[in-house]
Amino acid sequence: MSRPRKRVVVVGGGTAGWMAASALAKLLPHACSVQLVESAEIGIVGVGEATLPHLRAFIETLGLDEAAFMAATHATFKLGIDFRDFGKIGDSYLHPFGDFGRPLGGIPFFQYWLRMRGAGAGDLFDYSPCNVMAAANRFARPSTDPGSPFAHISYAYQFDATRFGPHLRGHAETLGATRTEGRIVSVERDPLSGDVAALVLADGTRIEGDLFVDCSGFRSLLLGDTLGEPWDDWSHWLPCDRAVAVPCASASATIEPYTRATAMPAGWRWRIPLRHRVGNGYVYASAHLSDDAATAALLGAIEGPALADPRILRFRAGRRSRSWVGNVVAVGLASGFLEPLESTSIYLAQAAIIELIARFPLDRIEPADRAAFNAAVDYEYDRIRDFLILHYHATTRDDSPFWDHVRTMTVPDTLHDKLALFRAAGRVARYDRGLFFEPSWIAVMVGQGVLPAGWDQRVDAVDAAALSGAMDRLRTRIATDVAAMPDHAALLARHG
Ligand SMILES: Cc1cc2nc3c(=O)[nH]c(=O)nc-3n(C[C@H](O)[C@H](O)[C@H](O)COP(=O)(O)OP(=O)(O)OC[C@H]3O[C@@H](n4cnc5c(N)ncnc54)[C@H](O)[C@@H]3O)c2cc1C
Repeated sequence: MSRPRKRVVVVGGGTAGWMAASALAKLLPHACSVQLVESAEIGIVGVGEATLPHLRAFIETLGLDEAAFMAATHATFKLGIDFRDFGKIGDSYLHPFGDFGRPLGGIPFFQYWLRMRGAGAGDLFDYSPCNVMAAANRFARPSTDPGSPFAHISYAYQFDATRFGPHLRGHAETLGATRTEGRIVSVERDPLSGDVAALVLADGTRIEGDLFVDCSGFRSLLLGDTLGEPWDDWSHWLPCDRAVAVPCASASATIEPYTRATAMPAGWRWRIPLRHRVGNGYVYASAHLSDDAATAALLGAIEGPALADPRILRFRAGRRSRSWVGNVVAVGLASGFLEPLESTSIYLAQAAIIELIARFPLDRIEPADRAAFNAAVDYEYDRIRDFLILHYHATTRDDSPFWDHVRTMTVPDTLHDKLALFRAAGRVARYDRGLFFEPSWIAVMVGQGVLPAGWDQRVDAVDAAALSGAMDRLRTRIATDVAAMPDHAALLARHG
């Protein structure tokens, strides 16, 4: 049965807006028309340079060419995040996009390492292919040989946030999405249902729709301002509420295939190497640091001349209680915000878009679809929230009031339970969907000094000498293969 196409109106042309518009236009051309409204006068948030591996699947689904996308956004490859000074000052570890070793007999490699760590197994991170590649500034795509330790690595991108939206825009318009320039000054609602009926622009243009995707950024124009959906505040767990950002010239020809996060007295600092420059920012708690002091600290830490004036961004950690209310679905910053410590925002937008497309209404919007969408969004936000809190809480730092606060605060019960489970025998809750699986929790826990008291008892049944030999061979194989990989910067130069 053919149905009339739904009129989807996307509010906002930042990263979230153009991701939503291009995915809807690509995947549901028969089911909806897509009109995007944005205001050049208001502009976009213009940050968000580090991504997660899931973006690759998104780009592929859209039918975009990876090389063209990377060239347009000045992108580099990313193998993980290098965390410095988090567990204690002087510490450093990589949260890699891939596992440690390989499971044996259905038991995670980490369990074998726990047993052998006092018997010459060395550093856990030497068994992470991504970590060894990152340390050597080398890059290669995942191996197609299923027996290779490099078969299960993954990678993401670091790109110029101001170029991603425009790149997607070109694609979305080719796919039939339309764009309207203008500032939305009022929103009309259906008097009976309360649904949004139309948007009114400053020049008087009226835009009607059946479904509104709110990608209006921190303003949350439809979900927050118009529908008044409550805000669940998480700033007592994630007290950073500001960032100062500044790009700078790169100090060397090396381009690291990873983002760096360095803990600071009142938060942390990012360093994101792109092809043509380095992105920098200091994410901090305004209760502990002034904007001027944060700016001075950032400018004092960057490696080359600043390429623009420092920019202060204000935010709060948390999310709207529901992201889909009536005929409004919020995506991106309009739905909530978790600070960029693990580069999760663009992923959250992507997850919401995919969920919306999977639940796209046939005729009327089914309340059960809306409820399932909201449950899926909550599921994503809640686990990421716990994962971020872990980075602050698993520390021995006592060198500033900020670190004293986060070290001693009461964490969510869900995180408390995860820590207890890990501390006993290195176990991590098993997840079949969402973000941050076992290797991620292991990386941050071990990287920040949380070490289990015991291990899986099945491991003791394996012969220690055989285990030690197998681990040595794996470590040597990883090191040898990485030594033969191309240098990241040289590879990018060849990439064009
Ligand atoms: C400091 C900081 C660092 C970050 N780092 C990362 C990172 O490394 N990785 C990551 O994944 N994410 C990161 N993020 C998040 C990331 O920037 C956002 O998720 C991403 O840019 C999407 O933003 P958006 O499209 O939701 O909002 P915006 O970019 O703010 O877009 C909002 C759009 O709505 C339009 N609009 C608003 N009001 C109106 C109106 N009245 N009329 C018409 N149009 C309107 C605007 O013009 C604009 O087009 C970071 C965020 C911050 C604050």
